[in-house]
Amino acid sequence: MSFSDLGLRAELLRAVEAQGYTTPTPIQRQAIPAVLGGGDLLASAQTGTGKTAGFTLPMLQRLADGPRPGKRQIRALVLTPTRELAAQVGESVADYGRHLTLKSHVIFGGVGQQPQVDAIRPGLDVLVATPGRLLDLHQQKHVDFSRIEILVLDEADRMLDMGFIHDIKKVLKLLPEKRQNLLFSATFSDEIQALAHKLLDNPAKIEVARRNTTAETVDQSVYRVDREKKRELLAHLISEQQWYQVLVFTRTKHGANRLAEQLSKQDIPAMAIHGNKSQSARTKALSAFKSGELQVLVATDIAARGLDISELPYVVNFELPNVAEDYVHRIGRTGRAGSEGQAVSLVCVDEHGLLKGIERLIKRDLEKHIVPGFEPDPNAKPEPIENGRNRGRGNGGRGGNGGRSNGGRGQGQSRQGGEARQSGNRDNEAAKPARRRRRPRRPAQQG
Ligand code: AMP
Repeated sequence: MSFSDLGLRAELLRAVEAQGYTTPTPIQRQAIPAVLGGGDLLASAQTGTGKTAGFTLPMLQRLADGPRPGKRQIRALVLTPTRELAAQVGESVADYGRHLTLKSHVIFGGVGQQPQVDAIRPGLDVLVATPGRLLDLHQQKHVDFSRIEILVLDEADRMLDMGFIHDIKKVLKLLPEKRQNLLFSATFSDEIQALAHKLLDNPAKIEVARRNTTAETVDQSVYRVDREKKRELLAHLISEQQWYQVLVFTRTKHGANRLAEQLSKQDIPAMAIHGNKSQSARTKALSAFKSGELQVLVATDIAARGLDISELPYVVNFELPNVAEDYVHRIGRTGRAGSEGQAVSLVCVDEHGLLKGIERLIKRDLEKHIVPGFEPDPNAKPEPIENGRNRGRGNGGRGGNGGRSNGGRGQGQSRQGGEARQSGNRDNEAAKPARRRRRPRRPAQQG
């Protein structure tokens, strides 16, 4: 099947061709006709499946085909959890829509609002936004929702995990009742199901990759090592095996900073990306990494969410995530779109329980290695895992938990590690704490 079989307009086919895509991905094959049909859609799809084009192409076509209000007004709204994902979706909208006369813009927190207000004022057809900044600008009467025909919630599970449910509900109340709703989510918790039930009217349902399956093309392995030797082992592996574009995950922002500094001191160019970095620092680090100038990007889970770095050859779990599903998301950064990738986890004695949880989830045992010179001490005693839980104490008066229930995951199991607790700043999308206690969704994975 080709894109032209999907009923897309010539302008969109030209844009797709310019991207170098020849065949639609499975989600595109199913989502494009469904969205063109005008109905609601519930799609289970992770980043890397081509979901963005899956909703953007038919959305643009519907806007181009439909009657335009006299004055240009926002007719499609795409909500994303993070600034990076908003920026990437915004780029896709601009790329795919380049031969149409539609106008789009992206808004998110963490940067000055005036340029965004200036871009919105003359009128837009498509607005891509993170929820916090969107509501701020709406409150200030810079955004008019009255003509919205299509709403897309991208990575809805992440939005709920990041505590955006109230903002989403507020936005929903402000939109015209008659509209097309598209909901994309990698996982389907009870909360997502409830949101889908409230939002969607008889939706087409699409599921492209089974939940928690890890890409077949990713070579996954574990290196057992002592806690204190991890950095040295990482530097050794990078140099020895000549890894050139390595995305490294740490559990906390502090840990990301420290590791990036230490690697840089060892002549391995590295930068950290996380929720406390300014938007310009994040953008700079990401573009240097994408272009190949920067060898190592050290990231926390939230900062890495939605990053589109194609064909990334190496992903390293410097620390295992506290929530097993995040392992699947992390390694989903490599081996994408059929390319080969390598995912390496450095595991110390503290993390054996987390490793078991991951192996249970992905239903396979990971290959274990020990590098000569880095043999772990067989008598080492496990220590509690640091996850940044207490660093936000006194910040916004919420106490050590940042006002957030840990969803029944047990001590040290908060999904967001150190990211969610540090800021009461509305602009900092990634650092926004949830405002409501949530019901436990699944039992703690590790005691
Ligand atoms: P997404 O899941 O939307 O984040 O897309 C993942 C990556 O796949 C992006 O780098 C897209 O540019 C790329 N992509 C999307 N559709 C196709 C396609 N039909 N063929 C090849 N690559 C694609």
